[in-house]
Amino acid sequence: MATTKNSKNTYDSIIIGSGLSGLILAKQLSDLGQKTLVLEKREIPGGHLRSTSTKGFQFHTSLLYIPDFKEYTEPLEMLEFMMDQKILGPSKELPPKTYNSGELKDFIGFSDLKFHSINEAQWYTQSKVREILIPPEDWVEWLLHEPAFEIQALHEVTRYNFDDGNLDSVTVNGTKTFYATNFFHAAPVSPLHTLIPDIALKGREKAKVSKAQGWTSVCLHFLHSGLQTENENVHLLMGSKTDFEPCIGTFYPAIQKDSKTLQESFWFSLINDEHTEDMEHIGALIRNMKKQIKRAYPEAIENIDIEKIVVTPQSQGSYDLELKNPCQLSQISNLWLASPLLLEQRSVGASVQAADKALKAWKACQPEIYANIPSSTCPA
Ligand SMILES: Cc1cc2nc3c(=O)[nH]c(=O)nc-3n(C[C@H](O)[C@H](O)[C@H](O)COP(=O)(O)OP(=O)(O)OC[C@H]3O[C@@H](n4cnc5c(N)ncnc54)[C@H](O)[C@@H]3O)c2cc1C
Repeated sequence: MATTKNSKNTYDSIIIGSGLSGLILAKQLSDLGQKTLVLEKREIPGGHLRSTSTKGFQFHTSLLYIPDFKEYTEPLEMLEFMMDQKILGPSKELPPKTYNSGELKDFIGFSDLKFHSINEAQWYTQSKVREILIPPEDWVEWLLHEPAFEIQALHEVTRYNFDDGNLDSVTVNGTKTFYATNFFHAAPVSPLHTLIPDIALKGREKAKVSKAQGWTSVCLHFLHSGLQTENENVHLLMGSKTDFEPCIGTFYPAIQKDSKTLQESFWFSLINDEHTEDMEHIGALIRNMKKQIKRAYPEAIENIDIEKIVVTPQSQGSYDLELKNPCQLSQISNLWLASPLLLEQRSVGASVQAADKALKAWKACQPEIYANIPSSTCPA
């Protein structure tokens, strides 16, 4: 049942999703004086970049891989500007590695192997990368430090509601209602076809949204006892068949804890979103990932202190909704799409860019808001 509209549940802007793009938008909108609410379905905000903890150990959730190309690094410079801190260090040569014919080698290509996720895997094949001075987990902490916006975890948006043809509220967990003037969808796009009623999303646009399937990532986090390798390169492990998508991963520098040497490694492979619920397929993929890692690093699989598996639907991919207006569905004038999956890149930079594009598109539609705001608080 809808909650009655009152000053407590009514906002200027509501952001759906608290990943990097959602939190950047929240910070920028609240800095512009917007009363802003972020709704997040998980227990803690931060989305994919929030580090995951098991048995007291904090695991990384990214490969910390930033290719040294302008299109990846420029959006992160925007984040550096916001944070007033350097997050990117110097460029370094770190060619990706693969295991082939009994040895670890520099990766030179997929030869004639035709993986379905080759466009995603291709992103991890660059040799020239940037050092990361501040890990992504800390960017999230910075964005969440003393926020001027409100954030509600365990609040899953289950419906966009329309009154007289206008989007005016969202339903959360099927029960509560929150009202706003503007809505920013910083979550995967394809569920929109079930969240938005048919009166507002129909025809070709609905078909495009519902077909916007991406990739589910199946991630393995390991804490190994002892030093396994000093290689910090990205690895693309795949054997000679294409039964499963490549296993992509890295080792982080070893650490000392309780006078023991420990080393963390992180691996992921992709499955089509259609198979997200297929436990048999996921189990077979995990066995194959471990097999690939064992071929390259036989001892690493024997020396595991802690292991964690994380499956995240719609975490990668790229699709073009052929939107007529930037970041907007044609029949909903106050909903702004801020998902990196609508952009070409597969990176944290794309999340920054997605937030920036949505903010710019929104600003272009409300020139009156900027009349009295000094330009230093009004990003170009
Ligand atoms: C395995 C893996 C490794 C990666 N490694 C790298 C790397 O090394 N370098 C790099 O540049 N990039 C990397 N990336 C990409 C990068 O991490 C992502 O692009 C970025 O984190 C996505 O941030 P986001 O805010 O756009 O989305 P997300 O982090 O996915 O955030 C979306 C949020 O929305 C929430 N949500 C979804 N639906 C709802 C709903 N209905 N109601 C409320 N909340 C909702 C989700 O719970 C989530 O918190 C990697 C990605 C993966 C999957």
